[in-house]
Amino acid sequence: MHKIGFGYDIHRLEAGRRLVLGGVDIPNAAGLLGHSDGDALAHAVMDALLGALGEGDIGTHFPDTDPRYKDARSLGLLESVMGLVRSRGAAVVNVDTVIIAEEPKMGPHIPAMKAALAPVLGIPGSSLGIKAKTNEGLGPVGEKLAIACYAIVLISLPG
Ligand code: MG
Repeated sequence: MHKIGFGYDIHRLEAGRRLVLGGVDIPNAAGLLGHSDGDALAHAVMDALLGALGEGDIGTHFPDTDPRYKDARSLGLLESVMGLVRSRGAAVVNVDTVIIAEEPKMGPHIPAMKAALAPVLGIPGSSLGIKAKTNEGLGPVGEKLAIACYAIVLISLPG
């Protein structure tokens, strides 16, 4: 059996914070605000996986009121979600994502994001899409106040 899941996340940009997306540190004057490292791409992928499993969302699994997740490395949280995927006997087939950011240019960092995320997801780089686009100056993302990410996953389950 196959199931799909869909995820979305948006985080505010704050001057002086680390910018982490897809597990990669990206040099930038501003980073994503969050209880964890603010990795909106990893969060969107996690929500997509949890959605495919019918297991709620990352807010229920890793509440931002829990001090254990303060400044948490989101790739580590993704590893926990993958533990849940495997505990169901499931495996990821493929993942596709979109990053919407006015700046910085994401293209040069996409190979490193793929190299960081694909092994955690247990898929080859050819089964992981990471695409980046701007918001054409429109809205809070276009005004460089935030970065948003979408993810869709396909998992295979026994039965
Ligand atoms: Mg988030």
